[in-house]
Amino acid sequence: MSNFSKNLFWAVTTLIVISVVFSALFNKSAKPEELSLNQLADKMNGGQVTEVKINGEDLSIKLSGGADAVSKKEAEASLSETLKNLGVTSEAFQKVKFTVENQSGFQFWAGILIPTILPLLVIGLIFWFMFRQAKGGVNQAFSFGRSNIKLSNFGKEKVMFSDVAGLKEAKEELAEVVEFLKTPKKFLDLGAKIPRGVLLMGPPGTGKTLIARAVAGESNVPFFYISASEFVEMFVGVGASRTRDAFMTAKKAAPAILFIDEIDAVGRQRGAGLGGGNDEREQTLNQILVELDGFDRDTRVIVLAATNRPDILDPALLRPGRFDRRVILDLPDINDREEILKIHSRGKMIATGIDLRKVAVRTPGFSGADLANLMNEGAILAARGNKKTIGQEDFYEAVEKIILGPERRSRVISKREKEITAYHEGGHALVAASLKGSDPVHKISIISRGMAGGYTMKLPIEEQRLRTKTQFLNDIAMMMGGYASEQLMFGDVSTGASNDLKEASELTRKLVTRYGMSELGPVTFGKTEEMIFLGREIGTEKNYSEKMAEKIDDEVRKFTERSYAIARRILQTHKKALQKIAETLIEKETIEGDEFYNLLKPFKIKAIAV
Ligand code: ADP
Ligand code: MG
Ligand code: ZN
Repeated sequence: MSNFSKNLFWAVTTLIVISVVFSALFNKSAKPEELSLNQLADKMNGGQVTEVKINGEDLSIKLSGGADAVSKKEAEASLSETLKNLGVTSEAFQKVKFTVENQSGFQFWAGILIPTILPLLVIGLIFWFMFRQAKGGVNQAFSFGRSNIKLSNFGKEKVMFSDVAGLKEAKEELAEVVEFLKTPKKFLDLGAKIPRGVLLMGPPGTGKTLIARAVAGESNVPFFYISASEFVEMFVGVGASRTRDAFMTAKKAAPAILFIDEIDAVGRQRGAGLGGGNDEREQTLNQILVELDGFDRDTRVIVLAATNRPDILDPALLRPGRFDRRVILDLPDINDREEILKIHSRGKMIATGIDLRKVAVRTPGFSGADLANLMNEGAILAARGNKKTIGQEDFYEAVEKIILGPERRSRVISKREKEITAYHEGGHALVAASLKGSDPVHKISIISRGMAGGYTMKLPIEEQRLRTKTQFLNDIAMMMGGYASEQLMFGDVSTGASNDLKEASELTRKLVTRYGMSELGPVTFGKTEEMIFLGREIGTEKNYSEKMAEKIDDEVRKFTERSYAIARRILQTHKKALQKIAETLIEKETIEGDEFYNLLKPFKIKAIAV
């Protein structure tokens, strides 16, 4: 709850309590009839009144029938005076018993004080609120230059190296840092300097933040976290003062780890920005450098910084004595992926006999964060299906959902469209299966997912960092499979092939201009420029002649035509197999890998080389 709502809550409660007390004091019983003084006078003249009790201004009246009534007299005048003025005869007066009651002290004072004090109290409360609010505002303005640095670790949140899967080299590097923090004496005695900054570099989601936390956990020191983007505000100078504050906080708690996330937000090469507004960033960066330089020889604060763009960092940051240690975090390979999946299956109700290795096989290119997300998606899918445990299919389903978007079973497609999609996907799969050295098909589906109408999933048997020309040619032929199949079966092509063609063209062009895999020989064409301020490849400079451009286009066309011809020939030769696949797809909508290869067995397809 915010401060304001807390205050409001208390104020309202106080008011309610006061009014309850108030009404308890003054409305003790069920209400008797209320008489005006005129009515009272009439009743007295009519002999209907037996007794009148006077209590301050209040009159409690007993009527002859035994009923009660109340009335009020004027404060200033005496009652008998008033009644006489209203024409009550002296005989009538004599018939009524008048008693004057003393007000109890409390009631008397409460009667006077509460009506005066209550409004004051309310006004006071309102002022108090406004004051509190205003003070908050002032505080906020003053805390501007302070970093909202977060101390987070220990207790249940403590992360250890065992919570980080894979990343063997990174762990080894960082184990050194842990040792420095634990036994600095050993190093200082030998005259070694304690490292100051370690830069963690790697694509998003590879576990940079996680491993930094683990370093703190292993060395059992406080972990201070700040994101560099928080340094930068609209006002010049704020970033620098926040930096100062963050370092000071960490130094006070030494030994400690100060983690600066996304340091590229301030650490970009100075003077590379577009237009103004970069002064602030530069000042912040300078301050970080100053702070790092200002560490004493035995300051036991180690600054870990993370970035996924090491290439754009200012060289000054990377100088010895600053972030001179660099740790690279790679995307996980298949073994690491399996391990990450295992870590994230802790605490989840996983069905017995689940093979996480098979899930790892299907997730090349996934980062640690993607895999954590995958396990969670699997659990959600199982819960949606009202299952007690998470099964293998849930994880497979989650993989596809993450790669291609959720299934859209509800999308209405006509019978004709379904047929086209089935032949299209069947074409991809059949070409893949008929080429030597091509990646095996894992699944074919004509259920639309995200933007795709259907999809054929093929995955390399083993993890590979290098790809060969043959593999590329296989890929291009397979991409052409969908187009060729539509062409062959319907004599027409649909828009469904457009994405395939785009990818195939891009790949073919790369083959020629970047990889030197064409007849033009081992040369590259075009100089790609990285634009620092956008952090992205945006332009390719043409560094070849028009004549060469023509030759490149020729080569690209040759590759494309050849791939198309191969795909078409395969489909033509095995038209029966293609029909079988398409029919099965129309019927079942998805075919798993094993099923697909079983389906092909009777056709005795002999794989050919591209
Ligand atoms: P980064 O900071 O590199 O972008 P994070 O450290 O924030 O990535 O990782 C996000 C999440 O992904 C982590 O909280 C963790 O759940 C998961 N994760 C990433 N890498 C690993 C790993 N190697 N082992 C276990 N979990 C990982
Ligand atoms: Mg991070
Ligand atoms: Zn396709």
